[in-house]
Amino acid sequence: MPSTAKRLSVFTESVIRGMTRLSNQHGAINLSQGFPDFDPPGELLAALEKAARSDCHQYAVTWGAPRFRKALARKIEAFHGLSLDPDAHLVVTCGSTEAMMVAMMTACDPGDRVVVFSPFYENYAADAILSGAEPIYVPLHPPGFGFDPDDLRRAFKQRPKAIVVCNPSNPTGKVFTREELAFILQLAEEHDAFVITDEPYEHIVYDPGHHVSLAAMPGAFDRTITCNSLSKTYSITGWRLGYVQAAPGVIAQARKVHDFLTVGAAAPLQEAAVAGLELPRSYYEELGRLYAVKRDLFLGILRRTGLPFTEPQGAYYVMVDVSALGFRTDTAAAEWLVREVGVAGVPGSSFFREPEPRYIRFHFAKREETLLAAGERLARLARLGA
Ligand code: GLN
Repeated sequence: MPSTAKRLSVFTESVIRGMTRLSNQHGAINLSQGFPDFDPPGELLAALEKAARSDCHQYAVTWGAPRFRKALARKIEAFHGLSLDPDAHLVVTCGSTEAMMVAMMTACDPGDRVVVFSPFYENYAADAILSGAEPIYVPLHPPGFGFDPDDLRRAFKQRPKAIVVCNPSNPTGKVFTREELAFILQLAEEHDAFVITDEPYEHIVYDPGHHVSLAAMPGAFDRTITCNSLSKTYSITGWRLGYVQAAPGVIAQARKVHDFLTVGAAAPLQEAAVAGLELPRSYYEELGRLYAVKRDLFLGILRRTGLPFTEPQGAYYVMVDVSALGFRTDTAAAEWLVREVGVAGVPGSSFFREPEPRYIRFHFAKREETLLAAGERLARLARLGA
Protein backbone atom coordinates (compact mmCIF):
# COMPACT_ATOMS: atom_id res chain seq x y z
CA MET A 1 0.00 0.00 0.00
CA PRO A 2 1.42 3.47 -0.82
CA SER A 3 2.27 5.65 2.16
CA THR A 4 0.07 8.63 3.03
CA ALA A 5 1.41 12.19 3.20
CA LYS A 6 4.17 12.70 5.76
CA ARG A 7 2.77 16.00 7.02
CA LEU A 8 -0.16 14.06 8.51
CA SER A 9 2.12 12.17 10.88
CA VAL A 10 2.97 15.26 12.91
CA PHE A 11 -0.49 15.87 14.38
CA THR A 12 -3.29 13.72 15.74
CA GLU A 13 -7.05 13.74 15.28
CA SER A 14 -8.77 16.39 17.37
CA VAL A 15 -8.61 15.50 21.07
CA ILE A 16 -11.64 17.76 21.66
CA ARG A 17 -13.87 15.85 19.28
CA GLY A 18 -12.39 12.55 20.57
CA MET A 19 -13.43 13.47 24.13
CA THR A 20 -17.03 13.95 22.97
CA ARG A 21 -16.99 10.42 21.57
CA LEU A 22 -15.52 9.03 24.81
CA SER A 23 -18.06 10.99 26.84
CA ASN A 24 -20.94 9.56 24.79
CA GLN A 25 -19.57 6.03 25.20
CA HIS A 26 -19.61 6.40 28.98
CA GLY A 27 -22.81 8.42 29.28
CA ALA A 28 -20.86 11.23 30.97
CA ILE A 29 -21.92 14.87 31.20
CA ASN A 30 -20.02 16.38 28.30
CA LEU A 31 -18.15 19.54 29.27
CA SER A 32 -15.39 18.83 26.73
CA GLN A 33 -16.26 19.96 23.18
CA GLY A 34 -17.75 23.43 23.50
CA PHE A 35 -21.36 23.45 22.33
CA PRO A 36 -24.66 24.33 24.03
CA ASP A 37 -27.31 21.82 25.13
CA PHE A 38 -30.04 24.45 24.76
CA ASP A 39 -32.01 25.54 21.70
CA PRO A 40 -31.11 28.30 19.26
CA PRO A 41 -33.40 31.39 19.32
CA GLY A 42 -36.97 30.62 18.17
CA GLU A 43 -36.61 33.12 15.30
CA LEU A 44 -33.92 30.93 13.74
CA LEU A 45 -35.94 27.74 14.13
CA ALA A 46 -38.98 29.37 12.53
CA ALA A 47 -36.81 30.67 9.68
CA LEU A 48 -35.36 27.18 9.22
CA GLU A 49 -38.85 25.69 8.78
CA LYS A 50 -39.66 28.41 6.26
CA ALA A 51 -36.37 27.85 4.43
CA ALA A 52 -37.21 24.15 4.10
CA ARG A 53 -40.20 25.10 1.96
CA SER A 54 -38.55 27.86 -0.04
CA ASP A 55 -36.50 27.81 -3.17
CA CYS A 56 -33.00 27.50 -1.68
CA HIS A 57 -32.04 23.85 -1.93
CA GLN A 58 -29.37 24.13 -4.60
CA TYR A 59 -25.91 25.66 -4.39
CA ALA A 60 -25.80 29.22 -3.17
CA VAL A 61 -23.26 31.62 -4.69
CA THR A 62 -20.00 29.95 -3.72
CA TRP A 63 -18.73 32.82 -1.53
CA GLY A 64 -22.09 33.11 0.22
CA ALA A 65 -25.77 33.74 -0.50
CA PRO A 66 -26.21 37.49 -1.23
CA ARG A 67 -29.00 37.92 1.36
CA PHE A 68 -26.83 36.32 4.03
CA ARG A 69 -23.77 38.42 3.18
CA LYS A 70 -25.83 41.62 3.19
CA ALA A 71 -27.27 40.82 6.62
CA LEU A 72 -23.80 39.90 7.85
CA ALA A 73 -22.31 43.18 6.62
CA ARG A 74 -25.09 45.14 8.39
CA LYS A 75 -24.49 43.27 11.65
CA ILE A 76 -20.72 43.78 11.47
CA GLU A 77 -21.21 47.51 10.83
CA ALA A 78 -23.58 47.79 13.79
CA PHE A 79 -21.06 46.23 16.18
CA HIS A 80 -17.67 47.23 14.80
CA GLY A 81 -18.39 50.31 12.72
CA LEU A 82 -16.84 48.75 9.61
CA SER A 83 -18.64 49.61 6.43
CA LEU A 84 -18.22 46.45 4.34
CA ASP A 85 -19.07 45.66 0.75
CA PRO A 86 -20.72 42.22 0.98
CA ASP A 87 -19.31 41.33 -2.46
CA ALA A 88 -15.75 42.41 -1.82
CA HIS A 89 -15.04 41.88 1.88
CA LEU A 90 -16.69 38.58 2.84
CA VAL A 91 -16.54 34.87 2.09
CA VAL A 92 -19.06 32.62 3.83
CA THR A 93 -17.51 29.35 5.00
CA CYS A 94 -18.41 26.11 6.75
CA GLY A 95 -17.79 27.42 10.25
CA SER A 96 -14.81 29.31 11.54
CA THR A 97 -12.96 26.01 11.19
CA GLU A 98 -13.01 26.34 7.40
CA ALA A 99 -12.51 30.11 7.66
CA MET A 100 -9.22 29.56 9.54
CA MET A 101 -8.03 26.99 7.02
CA VAL A 102 -8.92 29.36 4.16
CA ALA A 103 -7.16 32.26 5.92
CA MET A 104 -4.02 30.24 6.48
CA MET A 105 -3.91 28.89 2.91
CA THR A 106 -4.59 32.37 1.54
CA ALA A 107 -1.80 33.97 3.58
CA CYS A 108 0.90 31.32 3.53
CA ASP A 109 3.13 29.57 1.05
CA PRO A 110 4.80 26.29 2.01
CA GLY A 111 7.77 27.10 4.22
CA ASP A 112 6.26 30.30 5.66
CA ARG A 113 6.07 30.73 9.41
CA VAL A 114 3.00 31.54 11.50
CA VAL A 115 3.06 32.82 15.09
CA VAL A 116 0.63 30.96 17.35
CA PHE A 117 0.15 31.70 21.05
CA SER A 118 0.36 28.64 23.29
CA PRO A 119 -2.01 27.42 24.72
CA PHE A 120 -4.02 27.60 21.50
CA TYR A 121 -7.16 26.12 20.01
CA GLU A 122 -5.92 22.83 18.61
CA ASN A 123 -6.97 23.47 14.99
CA TYR A 124 -4.41 26.25 14.50
CA ALA A 125 -1.32 24.06 14.45
CA ALA A 126 -3.02 21.57 12.12
CA ASP A 127 -4.19 24.44 9.86
CA ALA A 128 -0.64 25.78 9.65
CA ILE A 129 0.86 22.39 8.90
CA LEU A 130 -1.81 21.52 6.30
CA SER A 131 -1.09 24.77 4.50
CA GLY A 132 2.62 23.97 4.53
CA ALA A 133 3.48 26.62 7.12
CA GLU A 134 5.50 26.15 10.26
CA PRO A 135 4.11 27.39 13.58
CA ILE A 136 6.30 29.52 15.89
CA TYR A 137 4.87 29.30 19.39
CA VAL A 138 4.78 32.19 21.86
CA PRO A 139 3.79 31.24 25.41
CA LEU A 140 0.86 32.78 27.25
CA HIS A 141 1.59 32.80 30.98
CA PRO A 142 -0.93 31.75 33.63
CA PRO A 143 -2.77 32.89 35.62
CA GLY A 144 -3.72 35.81 33.32
CA PHE A 145 -2.45 34.12 30.12
CA GLY A 146 -0.80 37.32 28.92
CA PHE A 147 2.27 37.31 26.64
CA ASP A 148 5.72 38.72 27.23
CA PRO A 149 6.27 41.49 24.63
CA ASP A 150 9.92 40.41 24.24
CA ASP A 151 8.86 36.85 23.35
CA LEU A 152 6.60 38.25 20.65
CA ARG A 153 9.33 40.56 19.34
CA ARG A 154 11.69 37.59 19.12
CA ALA A 155 9.07 35.53 17.27
CA PHE A 156 8.61 38.33 14.72
CA LYS A 157 12.37 38.42 14.13
CA GLN A 158 11.86 35.02 12.47
CA ARG A 159 9.91 36.85 9.76
CA PRO A 160 6.52 35.14 10.08
CA LYS A 161 3.93 35.58 7.35
CA ALA A 162 1.10 35.77 9.87
CA ILE A 163 0.11 35.67 13.52
CA VAL A 164 -3.04 33.97 14.82
CA VAL A 165 -5.03 35.75 17.54
CA CYS A 166 -8.05 34.02 19.06
CA ASN A 167 -10.02 36.73 20.85
CA PRO A 168 -11.78 36.02 23.22
CA SER A 169 -9.47 33.12 23.55
CA ASN A 170 -10.19 29.43 23.52
CA PRO A 171 -9.02 27.70 25.75
CA THR A 172 -7.81 30.37 28.22
CA GLY A 173 -10.79 32.76 28.35
CA LYS A 174 -8.39 35.66 27.85
CA VAL A 175 -9.77 38.80 26.21
CA PHE A 176 -6.99 40.78 24.52
CA THR A 177 -6.91 44.44 25.50
CA ARG A 178 -6.81 47.25 22.96
CA GLU A 179 -3.17 47.89 24.01
CA GLU A 180 -2.15 44.28 23.47
CA LEU A 181 -3.84 44.24 20.07
CA ALA A 182 -2.14 47.53 19.15
CA PHE A 183 1.24 46.01 20.06
CA ILE A 184 0.54 42.91 17.93
CA LEU A 185 -0.57 45.13 15.07
CA GLN A 186 2.52 47.29 15.33
CA LEU A 187 4.79 44.23 15.09
CA ALA A 188 2.75 42.90 12.17
CA GLU A 189 3.16 46.28 10.43
CA GLU A 190 6.90 46.42 11.09
CA HIS A 191 7.40 42.92 9.67
CA ASP A 192 4.68 43.11 7.01
CA ALA A 193 2.74 40.13 8.35
CA PHE A 194 -0.97 39.32 8.31
CA VAL A 195 -2.95 39.14 11.54
CA ILE A 196 -5.42 36.26 11.35
CA THR A 197 -8.04 36.62 14.06
CA ASP A 198 -10.58 34.03 15.20
CA GLU A 199 -13.47 35.69 17.02
CA PRO A 200 -16.43 33.31 17.44
CA TYR A 201 -16.86 34.31 21.11
CA GLU A 202 -17.09 38.06 20.40
CA HIS A 203 -20.47 38.32 22.16
CA ILE A 204 -19.48 36.19 25.16
CA VAL A 205 -17.44 38.62 27.27
CA TYR A 206 -17.78 39.24 31.01
CA ASP A 207 -17.65 42.52 32.91
CA PRO A 208 -15.47 44.50 32.92
CA GLY A 209 -14.03 42.97 29.73
CA HIS A 210 -14.70 44.39 26.31
CA HIS A 211 -14.11 42.70 22.97
CA VAL A 212 -12.20 44.73 20.40
CA SER A 213 -12.22 43.40 16.85
CA LEU A 214 -8.70 44.03 15.61
CA ALA A 215 -9.78 44.72 12.01
CA ALA A 216 -11.66 47.80 13.22
CA MET A 217 -8.59 49.39 14.82
CA PRO A 218 -6.96 52.28 12.94
CA GLY A 219 -4.76 51.05 10.10
CA ALA A 220 -5.53 47.37 10.78
CA PHE A 221 -8.06 46.42 8.12
CA ASP A 222 -5.76 45.74 5.17
CA ARG A 223 -3.53 43.27 6.99
CA THR A 224 -6.18 41.58 9.11
CA ILE A 225 -7.99 38.43 8.06
CA THR A 226 -10.91 38.06 10.45
CA CYS A 227 -12.45 34.62 10.88
CA ASN A 228 -15.72 34.25 12.68
CA SER A 229 -18.69 31.98 13.08
CA LEU A 230 -22.38 32.05 13.91
CA SER A 231 -22.03 28.85 15.96
CA LYS A 232 -21.60 30.31 19.41
CA THR A 233 -23.52 33.57 18.99
CA TYR A 234 -26.74 31.83 17.91
CA SER A 235 -26.17 28.38 19.50
CA ILE A 236 -26.03 26.67 16.09
CA THR A 237 -22.69 24.83 16.12
CA GLY A 238 -24.13 22.11 13.87
CA TRP A 239 -25.12 24.55 11.13
CA ARG A 240 -21.45 25.11 10.27
CA LEU A 241 -21.75 28.75 9.24
CA GLY A 242 -18.77 31.05 9.42
CA TYR A 243 -17.01 33.69 7.39
CA VAL A 244 -13.74 35.31 6.42
CA GLN A 245 -13.64 39.11 6.37
CA ALA A 246 -10.68 40.90 4.77
CA ALA A 247 -9.54 43.47 2.22
CA PRO A 248 -10.77 42.91 -1.37
CA GLY A 249 -7.37 41.72 -2.67
CA VAL A 250 -7.22 39.07 0.05
CA ILE A 251 -10.86 38.04 -0.36
CA ALA A 252 -10.37 37.57 -4.12
CA GLN A 253 -7.78 34.89 -3.29
CA ALA A 254 -9.65 33.46 -0.29
CA ARG A 255 -12.69 32.90 -2.50
CA LYS A 256 -10.66 30.54 -4.67
CA VAL A 257 -9.40 28.53 -1.71
CA HIS A 258 -12.93 28.27 -0.31
CA ASP A 259 -14.49 27.38 -3.66
CA PHE A 260 -12.12 24.48 -4.27
CA LEU A 261 -12.30 23.24 -0.68
CA THR A 262 -16.05 23.15 -0.14
CA VAL A 263 -17.88 25.09 -2.93
CA GLY A 264 -20.06 26.60 -0.26
CA ALA A 265 -21.89 26.53 3.06
CA ALA A 266 -25.37 24.96 3.17
CA ALA A 267 -27.78 27.20 1.25
CA PRO A 268 -30.96 26.62 3.35
CA LEU A 269 -29.01 27.29 6.54
CA GLN A 270 -27.62 30.56 5.18
CA GLU A 271 -31.18 31.56 4.30
CA ALA A 272 -32.46 30.70 7.79
CA ALA A 273 -29.54 32.29 9.63
CA VAL A 274 -30.44 35.73 8.25
CA ALA A 275 -33.10 35.75 11.01
CA GLY A 276 -30.29 35.53 13.56
CA LEU A 277 -28.25 38.31 11.97
CA GLU A 278 -31.32 40.55 12.07
CA LEU A 279 -31.99 40.07 15.80
CA PRO A 280 -31.98 43.31 17.82
CA ARG A 281 -29.06 44.38 19.99
CA SER A 282 -30.98 43.22 23.09
CA TYR A 283 -30.45 39.62 21.93
CA TYR A 284 -26.68 39.96 22.31
CA GLU A 285 -27.00 41.69 25.68
CA GLU A 286 -29.21 38.85 26.89
CA LEU A 287 -26.72 36.27 25.56
CA GLY A 288 -23.94 37.97 27.52
CA ARG A 289 -26.08 37.93 30.69
CA LEU A 290 -27.02 34.27 30.18
CA TYR A 291 -23.39 33.24 29.92
CA ALA A 292 -22.38 35.39 32.90
CA VAL A 293 -24.90 33.46 35.03
CA LYS A 294 -23.55 30.14 33.73
CA ARG A 295 -20.01 31.24 34.37
CA ASP A 296 -20.74 32.24 37.96
CA LEU A 297 -22.59 28.99 38.61
CA PHE A 298 -19.79 26.86 37.18
CA LEU A 299 -16.98 28.80 38.86
CA GLY A 300 -18.82 28.29 42.18
CA ILE A 301 -18.84 24.54 41.51
CA LEU A 302 -15.12 24.60 40.70
CA ARG A 303 -14.32 26.66 43.80
CA ARG A 304 -15.90 23.99 45.96
CA THR A 305 -13.54 21.36 44.49
CA GLY A 306 -10.59 23.36 45.83
CA LEU A 307 -8.77 22.99 42.49
CA PRO A 308 -7.11 26.18 41.16
CA PHE A 309 -8.32 27.75 37.92
CA THR A 310 -8.22 31.05 36.05
CA GLU A 311 -11.52 32.90 35.77
CA PRO A 312 -12.32 33.43 32.09
CA GLN A 313 -12.82 37.03 30.92
CA GLY A 314 -14.61 35.80 27.82
CA ALA A 315 -15.69 32.65 25.89
CA TYR A 316 -17.01 29.70 27.89
CA TYR A 317 -13.99 27.63 28.86
CA VAL A 318 -12.05 27.23 32.10
CA MET A 319 -8.61 25.75 32.46
CA VAL A 320 -8.56 23.87 35.77
CA ASP A 321 -5.29 22.83 37.39
CA VAL A 322 -5.81 19.18 38.32
CA SER A 323 -2.28 18.43 39.56
CA ALA A 324 -3.57 17.95 43.12
CA LEU A 325 -5.52 14.89 41.93
CA GLY A 326 -2.19 13.09 41.58
CA PHE A 327 -2.42 11.71 38.03
CA ARG A 328 0.76 11.39 36.02
CA THR A 329 -0.76 12.99 32.95
CA ASP A 330 -3.74 15.18 32.16
CA THR A 331 -4.96 12.51 29.74
CA ALA A 332 -5.07 9.96 32.56
CA ALA A 333 -6.96 12.50 34.69
CA ALA A 334 -9.43 13.25 31.88
CA GLU A 335 -10.09 9.57 31.22
CA TRP A 336 -10.63 8.91 34.92
CA LEU A 337 -13.03 11.87 35.08
CA VAL A 338 -15.13 10.45 32.24
CA ARG A 339 -15.16 6.86 33.48
CA GLU A 340 -15.33 7.27 37.24
CA VAL A 341 -16.76 10.74 37.88
CA GLY A 342 -19.00 10.94 34.81
CA VAL A 343 -17.87 14.38 33.61
CA ALA A 344 -15.89 14.95 30.41
CA GLY A 345 -13.29 17.69 29.94
CA VAL A 346 -10.42 18.07 27.47
CA PRO A 347 -6.85 17.20 28.52
CA GLY A 348 -5.11 20.56 28.59
CA SER A 349 -1.96 19.29 26.86
CA SER A 350 -3.81 19.22 23.55
CA PHE A 351 -3.73 23.04 23.63
CA PHE A 352 -0.03 23.39 24.38
CA ARG A 353 3.11 23.09 22.35
CA GLU A 354 5.15 21.64 25.24
CA PRO A 355 3.88 18.69 27.29
CA GLU A 356 1.72 20.25 30.01
CA PRO A 357 0.17 17.72 32.37
CA ARG A 358 -1.51 20.26 34.65
CA TYR A 359 -4.82 21.23 33.11
CA ILE A 360 -8.25 19.98 32.13
CA ARG A 361 -10.40 22.35 30.08
CA PHE A 362 -14.11 22.37 30.93
CA HIS A 363 -16.81 24.41 29.21
CA PHE A 364 -20.03 25.73 30.69
CA ALA A 365 -22.27 26.31 27.65
CA LYS A 366 -24.90 24.12 29.27
CA ARG A 367 -28.33 24.44 30.87
CA GLU A 368 -28.32 25.19 34.58
CA GLU A 369 -29.59 21.69 35.40
CA THR A 370 -26.71 20.13 33.41
CA LEU A 371 -24.17 22.27 35.24
CA LEU A 372 -25.73 21.44 38.61
CA ALA A 373 -25.65 17.71 37.77
CA ALA A 374 -21.98 18.05 36.78
CA GLY A 375 -21.43 19.93 40.05
CA GLU A 376 -22.81 17.03 42.10
CA ARG A 377 -20.37 14.68 40.40
CA LEU A 378 -17.41 17.04 40.58
CA ALA A 379 -17.97 17.48 44.34
CA ARG A 380 -16.08 14.19 44.69
CA LEU A 381 -12.89 15.99 43.67
CA ALA A 382 -12.97 18.10 46.84
CA ARG A 383 -12.37 14.99 48.91
CA LEU A 384 -9.50 13.86 46.68
CA GLY A 385 -7.79 17.18 46.01
CA ALA A 386 -5.48 19.39 47.96
N1 GLN B 1 -14.69 25.36 19.64
C1 GLN B 1 -15.15 24.17 20.28
C2 GLN B 1 -14.16 23.69 21.31
O1 GLN B 1 -13.09 24.18 21.40
C3 GLN B 1 -15.35 23.03 19.33
C4 GLN B 1 -15.30 23.39 17.92
C5 GLN B 1 -15.31 22.19 17.06
O2 GLN B 1 -15.25 21.06 17.54
N2 GLN B 1 -15.38 22.46 15.81
O3 GLN B 1 -14.45 22.79 22.05
